[in-house]
Amino acid sequence: MYPDPMHAMVLTQPGQPLALTELPLPRPDADQLLLKVECCAVCRTDLHVVDGELRDPKLPLVPGHQIVGVVEGTGERVGVPWLGWTCGVCSFCRSGRENLCDKARFTGYTLDGGYAQYVVADRRFCFPIPESYRSAEASPLLCAGLIGFRAWRMIGDARRVGFYGFGSAAQILVQIAKADGRDVFAFTRAGDTAAQRFALDMGAVWAADSGTAPPELLDAAIIFAPDGSLVVTALRNLVKGGVVVCAGIHMSDIPSFPYELLWNERSIRSVANLTRLDGQELFERIARLRIETRRIVYPLARANEALADLRSGRLTGTAVLMTS
Ligand SMILES: [Zn+2]
Ligand SMILES: [Zn+2]
Repeated sequence: MYPDPMHAMVLTQPGQPLALTELPLPRPDADQLLLKVECCAVCRTDLHVVDGELRDPKLPLVPGHQIVGVVEGTGERVGVPWLGWTCGVCSFCRSGRENLCDKARFTGYTLDGGYAQYVVADRRFCFPIPESYRSAEASPLLCAGLIGFRAWRMIGDARRVGFYGFGSAAQILVQIAKADGRDVFAFTRAGDTAAQRFALDMGAVWAADSGTAPPELLDAAIIFAPDGSLVVTALRNLVKGGVVVCAGIHMSDIPSFPYELLWNERSIRSVANLTRLDGQELFERIARLRIETRRIVYPLARANEALADLRSGRLTGTAVLMTS
């Protein structure tokens, strides 16, 4: 009925390209679903895993954590996010912070992910996909959307919001921002006029190089790019009491800066992973609000090319790997 073995793109050693490999079909345990993968969007975190910036991945590993697949047997379409399993009993799990679970397992990092024809996933961590979204449209929502949404909730009622790095998460969040009546100021790497145009097309009110001062001070900033110096840049452009939210899992060192930039109750915080509640709230929200994304489609076998395009900054939008 289905191919056994299956094709997967496999990481055997960080720093090496993925290899197209035949693997036996994964066998689900009692808590898991076997999914036929329709597509898997590429996240910057996949790059950090493949490039060895995140320590101790499962090896060999099938990367990918923005999976849309169809459940074998029932035909239901579900999404699989980064958070793949939590213990349910640690102090974090018991206080609504399962994103910080001490024993959490992560899809495409410590669990095999979606750069494959099939994947198994814990049914308790899968999200039903709203019918109004095609699979390729839904896949960037599974991490860029979800972790972006968690970052978004950390900025409170900030009206003027800076986005540093305008890629997969920013293109989704800017639409939520607009629906909420907030203004997004987009900052991109110097000279990336394609990304600046993209930001304006998607709903930002202003876009410029990250070194440029915005026309007015911002109430909050979210850093998507993995560049620690942007934290200091963002602080300089922030009103008293404002917050800088670091939304990425990995970032270069943050340079030292004068205390004056932090003084007056400015704050810096990170956002880690997601909770299932974040997912439920995002999916409820986007079932009513239609999120459009710019996507660049690659066949599964060309995953290395998709990663290279993301790494180089050539990509404007979200790369999505299609299994067929
Ligand atoms: Zn736990
Ligand atoms: Zn991700």
